[in-house]
Amino acid sequence: MNLYIVMYHYTRDLLHSRYPEIRGMDVLTFKEQISFLKENFNVVEMEQVLDALDGKCELKKNSCLLTFDDGYIDNFTYAFPILEENGLQGSFFIPGKTIVEHKLLDVNKIHYILAGTGNISELLNDVYERMDYYRDGYDYPPNDELFKEYAKSNRFDTAEIIFIKRMLQMALPEKVRNRIASDLFEKYVGVSEEKLAYELYMTEEQIKTLKRHGMYIGIHGYDHYWLGNLEKVMMENDVMKALEVMEPYIDKNRWVMNYPYGNYNEDVINLISRNNCSMAITTKVSVADIDKDNRFELPRLDCNDFPPKSNTYMNF
Ligand SMILES: [Zn+2]
Repeated sequence: MNLYIVMYHYTRDLLHSRYPEIRGMDVLTFKEQISFLKENFNVVEMEQVLDALDGKCELKKNSCLLTFDDGYIDNFTYAFPILEENGLQGSFFIPGKTIVEHKLLDVNKIHYILAGTGNISELLNDVYERMDYYRDGYDYPPNDELFKEYAKSNRFDTAEIIFIKRMLQMALPEKVRNRIASDLFEKYVGVSEEKLAYELYMTEEQIKTLKRHGMYIGIHGYDHYWLGNLEKVMMENDVMKALEVMEPYIDKNRWVMNYPYGNYNEDVINLISRNNCSMAITTKVSVADIDKDNRFELPRLDCNDFPPKSNTYMNF
């Protein structure tokens, strides 16, 4: 049976926000989209999907599941009331670090750096300069070699932007990535990271409120790493730490994984299945088929694939 799993990130009043260039869904668009989905799809709850996976029930035709990544406060402020008003459930995937440490995740640092610069070639130069500067004492390939390997455009970003993202997300050694991201954050954003972290992520109290109101809470790693790229021990530590931190909000015998950056490998699947994970969602772009797909590799569509943004969902 087909299941349209819809992926959301930022949902906010973009025009009146401090960073209107950040790529998110405006609250009015979100409201329209929810009306559209409610009218044209059968919006299901996570528990129904898990029951269907276990053969305890069947999903209706055109079922759709709403997923929100990264634990943003704007999901709480803007999306949650609209979901409530419509009697719909959202599933929220919170990186453990955001509620424990109040530090910005790399993924967000990079979003804000990109939103803060109007000039990608200047930013690219800055990245190159710093990659050269920090190369002493660390071991990573020459800049042009890395560019060749990682600068691959996708359906939302140019090759240059993907290159910058990959360098700062995973390709460079972690210490180097962090130093460069902090340098650039200071140059292009200029707000303290801690302050922005408090502005950006949900608090534990807010997550509890979501849960009390029937929303579903899932796992999105602890540090928001590319799990499939980590050494096995580090990968295991990250997932287990996430489970520990999120224990108040999840059922440890029946939980759902959302791989950060959609990245995973066999080891990750083995670990989560051994630890009673019931299903996992990726960023592979497609409609899920819960009878045929591997339950630990379910694909999703982006919110931009649905009206009022586009009709791309029809192509799948
Ligand atoms: Zn994420």
